[in-house]
Amino acid sequence: MIGLDTKVNQLNKVGGATYSKLKKLGIETAKDLIFYYPFRYEDFSNITPIAKLQPGMTTTVVGRLELIASRRSFRKKMVLIEGLVADKTGSVKVIWFNQPWIAKNLQAGDIISLAGKVAGDLFNVYLNSPEYEKAGSNSTHTARLVPIYSLTEGLTQKQLRFLIKNTITLADKIDDYLPLPILKEKHLISLAQALKKIHFPANKNEIDKARNRLAFDELFIIQLWSKLLKRDLASHKSYRIKFFEDETKEFVAELGFKLTDDQRKAAWEIITDLKSGSPMNRLVEGDVGSGKTLVAAIAAYNVSLNGLSTAFLAPTEILANQHFATLSKVLGKSIKLGLFTRSQRIIGDRAVAKKEFLKQCQKGEIDLIIGTHTLIQKDIAFNNLALVIVDEQHRFGVLQREELKKKSWSGQVSSKRPHFLSLSATPIPRSLALTVYGDLALSIIRQMPLGRKKIITRVVAPAKRLEAYQFIKEQVKAGRQVFVVCPLIDPSDNFGFKSATEEFEKLDKEIFLDLAIGLLHGKLKPAQKEQAMADFLSGRTKILVSTSVVEVGVDVKNATVMMIEGADRFGLAQLHQFRGRVGRNSHQSYCFLFTDSQEEKTLLRLKALVECNDGFELAQKDLKYRGAGQIYGYQQSGFSNLKIATLDDLVLAKSAQEAADFFINNYNINDFPELSAKLKGLNFSQHLE
Ligand code: ADP
Ligand code: MG
Repeated sequence: MIGLDTKVNQLNKVGGATYSKLKKLGIETAKDLIFYYPFRYEDFSNITPIAKLQPGMTTTVVGRLELIASRRSFRKKMVLIEGLVADKTGSVKVIWFNQPWIAKNLQAGDIISLAGKVAGDLFNVYLNSPEYEKAGSNSTHTARLVPIYSLTEGLTQKQLRFLIKNTITLADKIDDYLPLPILKEKHLISLAQALKKIHFPANKNEIDKARNRLAFDELFIIQLWSKLLKRDLASHKSYRIKFFEDETKEFVAELGFKLTDDQRKAAWEIITDLKSGSPMNRLVEGDVGSGKTLVAAIAAYNVSLNGLSTAFLAPTEILANQHFATLSKVLGKSIKLGLFTRSQRIIGDRAVAKKEFLKQCQKGEIDLIIGTHTLIQKDIAFNNLALVIVDEQHRFGVLQREELKKKSWSGQVSSKRPHFLSLSATPIPRSLALTVYGDLALSIIRQMPLGRKKIITRVVAPAKRLEAYQFIKEQVKAGRQVFVVCPLIDPSDNFGFKSATEEFEKLDKEIFLDLAIGLLHGKLKPAQKEQAMADFLSGRTKILVSTSVVEVGVDVKNATVMMIEGADRFGLAQLHQFRGRVGRNSHQSYCFLFTDSQEEKTLLRLKALVECNDGFELAQKDLKYRGAGQIYGYQQSGFSNLKIATLDDLVLAKSAQEAADFFINNYNINDFPELSAKLKGLNFSQHLE
């Protein structure tokens, strides 16, 4: 008997090879299969009499297989299967390439159902590699709306569909985690129904209903999470941080530049939160280089003037070093800074032993402690930790975030929670933030500091590739450095290993023979990644080939060229972020977008990047350009909680928000174990590193 937790390798027809391919898609159990949603459907629901077939039609044909034969095409070593299918109205030829097993699966005399696009011309139509199955009342691959899944190499739609079809009745055994009153109020279908319909809908209306239910779930969970967090925070006190206005003004005056209005506003919003005495939970969003770190510094400075301490978490060691350097420069003479990472412990300008660091930290002698996730390790304790700042919040899962919150009260007399500030360079417009972040206080820094040079952006046609390489050579000769970003080719390669490695080989062995090139992808160990980054930072390597999985969040002042392969595979906002890695000093910088696509829509989309320099505007455009079913974009930039809901599901997000309010006001989450479990599974972490 199979159950929800049955491993897929115990299912009929799943051998070792298929099993490992399924695993690549994240499918290990029958339950995973059921929750693996299709990203679009092929409409094969019309059955056309053979006499009425016209080239270009997408349809199903049902008939008797009159003949079937296989032969080898003599030029290519390819197996060709040919058949003839007849119904009452006529007969039509069918061919399949390289699927030798079909000759064994089908026999002359079988009544079969075929689906696909009709090929040929008006005088001679035929079916080219259609989907096929024995005709019957319960069709899976033809004569209906057929689900199309995101696949990995070596796995077919048919295989996946077959497996899901054979497990889908288990959906009845999944407890519906949505409370009944909400189902009723929102007119949602049951979870089991939704899961069945999302895979095997009888009509388009059923797809809508299923999608609506499943998307609602995702949004509801986010809303509920954020509301519970808010309620939890509201039930706790935090430190009342007095605003030291004169000192802050002096600090700003000494910077040598004026804050932008947006920076000023964000700082003010933070100061207001900090003064309130209830725990702050605020996100600052702004493009790379918009000056978020500086705003955070103002907050940390005020905290230290109150005699309390701040922890600043960066996603990587290099970024922690970078923040430590920049913050030391602006704050070093007024407050005591510390750096704590796997390989370094520094207090002020002095390297210290780990023990010494921990001691000072525990005594609350360090005003601002900067580090990586090492800061949430067990042996670290803080004293009077009043503010936690997290850079690029998506990298840190909810659990880690919770850990850090606990840090501040464990072992302390006070039960106060620290204020929480996250910084993000992912430009989500305010109108859409609700969908992804729930009910989080948000400050947006949209203006860039004055005097930034515009990065020259070009879409490079395939024919101009060599010219671009030549240009890069000249830049390197002039002492500059170059980023090369490669896309994920297929989901099987979720570390981006393949594309980046291939590109690296090509550039290293064929194009830039005499230049030192570095390689960075998600399969490297953390230490190797740091090394690759450090080599680039120090200028030892001139070109860094990396994947999108590895975010290049580092400030390499000397880099002037950002070259993006397969640019059409990225969302605009993400491309914009890559572009933000260059243009950080006085040299003119460039962004080259490579694409093989000739599609007008794609080129138009990329052109938006050439013309527009505002991450938020680009995010909006992204939404406009992305049609349904496109799988790149936000998915890649990390909103992995949204499998089926999209950022622009505004109506649904509002509805989910209402439902979350209603639920919180009327029920106790602890009475809903399935829902609690679902919440615990929620993970905001961005990358699978
Ligand atoms: P972010 O964290 O948003 O990427 P940073 O705070 O690191 O941006 O700022 C990027 C650079 O711009 C830093 O060198 C910083 O000193 C500088 N900077 C920040 N705000 C301003 C401003 N208002 N005017 C000029 N330069 C600024
Ligand atoms: Mg930054």
